[in-house]
Amino acid sequence: MKVRKPPLRSCLGCGREADKRELVRFVRTPDGEVHVDPTGKKNGRGGYVCATSRCFEAAVRKKRFAAALHANLQEDDVERLREEFEQTLRQ
Ligand SMILES: [Zn+2]
Repeated sequence: MKVRKPPLRSCLGCGREADKRELVRFVRTPDGEVHVDPTGKKNGRGGYVCATSRCFEAAVRKKRFAAALHANLQEDDVERLREEFEQTLRQ
Protein backbone atom coordinates (compact mmCIF):
# COMPACT_ATOMS: atom_id res chain seq x y z
CA MET A 1 0.00 0.00 0.00
CA LYS A 2 1.18 3.48 -0.82
CA VAL A 3 1.48 5.97 1.97
CA ARG A 4 0.29 9.31 0.78
CA LYS A 5 2.56 12.10 1.96
CA PRO A 6 0.80 15.17 3.24
CA PRO A 7 1.44 18.23 1.10
CA LEU A 8 4.12 20.30 2.80
CA ARG A 9 4.27 24.06 2.80
CA SER A 10 6.82 26.43 4.30
CA CYS A 11 5.91 28.98 6.90
CA LEU A 12 6.62 32.53 5.74
CA GLY A 13 7.63 33.46 9.27
CA CYS A 14 10.04 30.77 10.46
CA GLY A 15 10.60 28.76 7.29
CA ARG A 16 9.51 25.49 8.91
CA GLU A 17 7.90 22.96 6.61
CA ALA A 18 4.61 21.57 7.79
CA ASP A 19 1.50 19.82 6.63
CA LYS A 20 -0.54 22.62 5.12
CA ARG A 21 -3.48 21.70 7.35
CA GLU A 22 -1.39 22.84 10.33
CA LEU A 23 -0.72 26.21 8.75
CA VAL A 24 -2.90 29.23 8.14
CA ARG A 25 -3.23 30.19 4.49
CA PHE A 26 -3.20 33.73 3.18
CA VAL A 27 -4.40 34.47 -0.30
CA ARG A 28 -4.19 37.44 -2.62
CA THR A 29 -7.53 38.00 -4.26
CA PRO A 30 -7.76 39.08 -7.91
CA ASP A 31 -8.28 42.69 -6.82
CA GLY A 32 -4.96 42.65 -5.02
CA GLU A 33 -6.17 42.41 -1.43
CA VAL A 34 -4.71 39.88 0.97
CA HIS A 35 -6.99 37.88 3.24
CA VAL A 36 -6.79 34.93 5.57
CA ASP A 37 -8.17 31.87 3.84
CA PRO A 38 -9.48 29.56 6.57
CA THR A 39 -10.70 26.99 4.03
CA GLY A 40 -7.33 26.88 2.23
CA LYS A 41 -9.20 26.58 -1.04
CA LYS A 42 -9.55 30.07 -2.41
CA ASN A 43 -8.06 30.72 -5.79
CA GLY A 44 -5.14 33.04 -5.99
CA ARG A 45 -1.54 33.31 -5.01
CA GLY A 46 -1.18 31.94 -1.50
CA GLY A 47 1.25 31.84 1.36
CA TYR A 48 1.30 29.94 4.63
CA VAL A 49 2.13 30.82 8.21
CA CYS A 50 2.22 28.66 11.37
CA ALA A 51 -0.83 29.16 13.53
CA THR A 52 0.97 31.46 15.95
CA SER A 53 1.16 35.24 16.15
CA ARG A 54 4.93 34.99 16.38
CA CYS A 55 5.23 33.61 12.86
CA PHE A 56 2.69 36.09 11.52
CA GLU A 57 4.67 38.98 12.99
CA ALA A 58 7.92 37.53 11.68
CA ALA A 59 6.45 37.24 8.20
CA VAL A 60 5.30 40.86 8.36
CA ARG A 61 8.64 42.08 9.67
CA LYS A 62 10.60 40.22 7.02
CA LYS A 63 8.18 41.41 4.33
CA ARG A 64 7.56 37.83 3.30
CA PHE A 65 3.94 38.48 2.41
CA ALA A 66 4.98 41.02 -0.17
CA ALA A 67 7.47 38.56 -1.65
CA ALA A 68 5.27 35.48 -1.58
CA LEU A 69 1.97 37.08 -2.54
CA HIS A 70 3.28 39.85 -4.78
CA ALA A 71 1.17 42.21 -2.72
CA ASN A 72 2.10 45.57 -1.33
CA LEU A 73 0.83 45.63 2.24
CA GLN A 74 0.34 48.98 3.91
CA GLU A 75 0.25 49.44 7.66
CA ASP A 76 -3.55 49.35 7.79
CA ASP A 77 -3.65 46.21 5.61
CA VAL A 78 -1.36 44.55 8.13
CA GLU A 79 -3.65 45.66 10.97
CA ARG A 80 -6.66 44.12 9.25
CA LEU A 81 -4.80 40.93 8.43
CA ARG A 82 -3.62 40.60 12.01
CA GLU A 83 -7.24 40.78 13.16
CA GLU A 84 -8.36 38.19 10.62
CA PHE A 85 -5.47 35.96 11.59
CA GLU A 86 -6.17 36.16 15.31
CA GLN A 87 -9.83 35.50 14.70
CA THR A 88 -8.86 32.37 12.78
CA LEU A 89 -6.67 31.21 15.66
CA ARG A 90 -9.57 31.49 18.07
CA GLN A 91 -11.82 29.28 15.97
ZN1 LIG B 1 6.37 29.39 11.45
